[in-house]
Amino acid sequence: MTINLSTDDLRALDAAHHFHPFTDHGALQPAERRVIARADGVWLWDSDGNRLLDGMAGLWCTEVGHGRQEIVEAVRAQMSELSYYNTFFKTAHGPVIELSRVLSELTPPQFNMFFYGSGGSDSNDTIVRMVRTYWDIVGKPEKKIIISRINAYHGSTVAAASLGGMAGMHAQSGGLQAGPLPGVVHIAQPYWFGSAMDLSPDEFGIWAAHELEKTIDELGEDRIAAFIAEPIQGAGGVIIPPDTYWPEVKRILDERDILFISDEVICGFGRTGSWFGCETYSTTPDFMAMAKGITSGYLPLGAVAVSDHVAQAFHEAGEFFHGYTYSGHPACCAAALANLEIMRREKLVERVHDDIGPYLAERWAKLAEHELVGETRMKGMVGALEMVPDKTDLSKRFDPVGQVGTLARDFSFANGLVMRAVRDSLILSPPLTLTHEEADELIALVKTTLDDTWMQLKKDGRLG
Ligand SMILES: *Cc1c(COP(=O)(O)O)cnc(C)c1O
Repeated sequence: MTINLSTDDLRALDAAHHFHPFTDHGALQPAERRVIARADGVWLWDSDGNRLLDGMAGLWCTEVGHGRQEIVEAVRAQMSELSYYNTFFKTAHGPVIELSRVLSELTPPQFNMFFYGSGGSDSNDTIVRMVRTYWDIVGKPEKKIIISRINAYHGSTVAAASLGGMAGMHAQSGGLQAGPLPGVVHIAQPYWFGSAMDLSPDEFGIWAAHELEKTIDELGEDRIAAFIAEPIQGAGGVIIPPDTYWPEVKRILDERDILFISDEVICGFGRTGSWFGCETYSTTPDFMAMAKGITSGYLPLGAVAVSDHVAQAFHEAGEFFHGYTYSGHPACCAAALANLEIMRREKLVERVHDDIGPYLAERWAKLAEHELVGETRMKGMVGALEMVPDKTDLSKRFDPVGQVGTLARDFSFANGLVMRAVRDSLILSPPLTLTHEEADELIALVKTTLDDTWMQLKKDGRLG
């Protein structure tokens, strides 16, 4: 069987036949290709037997850690009972009904109806269609514009990439012209460290929130359908907004008739120390997009939480022509139920808030003492550290941007820790089950990685 081949043979076949996500295939050398063989808890092993600490929880999703036989068993049992049936045509099944009930308990009180897909991107596609249809239903069809933010990530489908604020993705949008879908507008992100503005973080947070107000007022509230945002921008580089940002955004939205979409694909299910990021920041969304942590990645599942007033409008409006073959897939719902049962039983959300979150954050913050680090930030169990060429002048950046991030990320892998690089920052999002000992080990590996990176840059004359 192919999976028993040598690592070199696997790499060669991978290069020949596997079109990877977000990859420069021309530049990716065979020797750089890593084949992951197995995982348990917070640990991964590659095909050469190297052990790595999974500092990214897979891809921001493995909240309960890898290898939970309880989830495997729940899926196996569901697969042998009913491996698949659809939820179209007046039908349902136990797992989708039970998961919907559980989500109505776990989500904020305005959410009691849930629509399912296979991931975060299609959840956001669903939301675009629901939002625009909602305003048609309530007799305000001119409300079509969705405001998003620069550097947001909402997924890779045509609609989700348009909602996102990644310029490179807009350039490859799939439309007839480069750029997002019509009717999606991007405003500034609350990224103080990246702002180069002479404001305190709190002043900057207000400034960034006012960009929303300004844009709504310029375009006209009567044309704006919704504002979409991640509570903390994840793929954009773990942009934790200044404390002033969300309260001011909430004030702006509360004063206006505009729907708010909280993209909880990363922040949902405990990542920020509450069940949902909107609870951490006390906002009141009309929609939530959920995926990733909902199953801890054991099987693909996305869900859209629809608030009562929106659900009520659809209730009175006839058929909504929308659905996926795998909406509410029974095995995926069973995986979600087992995952959420573990999260509740082991009180993982409380653990992030009261125990491992503060423990990790305290040690993460100390990394700011390192010569290479200009800022550290962390909320719950998601964080970033910004590397800079000269600590005495934080306005300076490495040129070109991104090389040092990649260098550090590669050192991190070599040292046995998976972190991700965004620009010249390193980002972290480990499983919520991380123990104190594992956190200590993680921090030690980050330090080694920073040292290795610093030495290399020193040698190359790229500091100061
Ligand atoms: C990952 C992600 C998505 C896209 O989810 P997929 O399951 O990859 O389609 C959407 N929004 C956010 C915030 C994400 O991090």
